Amino acid sequence: MSATETEVQEVIIIGSGPAGLTAAIYTARADLRPLVLEGEPSSTSDQPGGQLMLTTEVENFPGFAEGIMGPELMNSFRQQAQRFGAQIETVKASRVDLSTAPFGVWVGDYSIKDPTYRARSLIIASGARSLMLNVPGEAKLLGHGVSTCATCDGFFFRGQPIVVIGGGDSALEEALFLAKFASSVTIIHRREELRASKIMQDRARAHEKISFRWNSVVTEVLGDEKVRAVVLKDTVTGEISELAVDGCFVAIGHLPNTALFAEQLKLDEMGYLITHDGTHTNIPGVFACGDVQDPKYRQAITAAGSGCMAALDVEHFLEGATD
Ligand code: NAP
Repeated sequence: MSATETEVQEVIIIGSGPAGLTAAIYTARADLRPLVLEGEPSSTSDQPGGQLMLTTEVENFPGFAEGIMGPELMNSFRQQAQRFGAQIETVKASRVDLSTAPFGVWVGDYSIKDPTYRARSLIIASGARSLMLNVPGEAKLLGHGVSTCATCDGFFFRGQPIVVIGGGDSALEEALFLAKFASSVTIIHRREELRASKIMQDRARAHEKISFRWNSVVTEVLGDEKVRAVVLKDTVTGEISELAVDGCFVAIGHLPNTALFAEQLKLDEMGYLITHDGTHTNIPGVFACGDVQDPKYRQAITAAGSGCMAALDVEHFLEGATD
């Protein structure tokens, strides 16, 4: 039976990355019949399965000694949640009303008066997305030399030249991590002054494998099956050049997917949901887990861990709820 408007759900989970589906597995096994709004297919990481759907091999998710492809891993999460009775709908939440419980969740036309679903509790696991350059070749080669995660993909670039785009702490942190593997790391920054903290700058500048290409932007990523070079434009002289590389790491920032909740839940200065005492938000009965509330770790395994925490927090909340 699919979820209907008339029935008040025990719990609705918004999002279906490692956090959302782990929350689904746990709440389903607790007999709460979770309804998961998994999102809709798209060419960005904002899609069912989340950011891992855009990666190739995942080698650091514990339990997979030989590694596993990102989409295959997420498909297993999904099947596991369904095995215990999670109801999964391939739709995107378009509006939420958290002013009174049961909470209202709309899909499709958000101007309709009544919500599509109501729920006693809500788990927000809508994730975050990496900002991308949006230049030719980037989307096609994502997972084939273009990456947004050094921790995930650095290992594949052992002994190879790579570039990191960006001038903030993320870019320098990625560059320092990647320098353990790569033969050389060129940081490409659009200005000649870094945004990153002084300590990170000092570390990167002192590293023998790291060099900087100032006042430069990537205008195209070249390669057929995998990255072979980036096209650079000098922002001062306008000169165009090509740099042969095997990897292109984009580290120009992340955006949490919180627009839907911004008016109703507390966000930090970077737009991430603020949680306390585990996964509680500022509204009782509304919980958040995974990258939508984590600007720091951003790993599949940490997201899954916090999805488990959200499920246990929901169970506890519902046990104590009087309605
Ligand atoms: P960020 O500080 O916003 O830096 C983004 C960088 O990307 C900037 O240098 C920016 O250039 C550049 N950029 C943005 N859009 C671009 C585009 N379209 N093309 C080329 N370059 C572009 O983001 P972040 O580095 O992810 O850091 C986010 C926050 O997390 C910061 O507060 C940071 O301190 C914190 N953080 C801390 C650590 C740590 O302490 N270890 C590690 C990671 C992140 P401009 O400078 O010209 O704007």
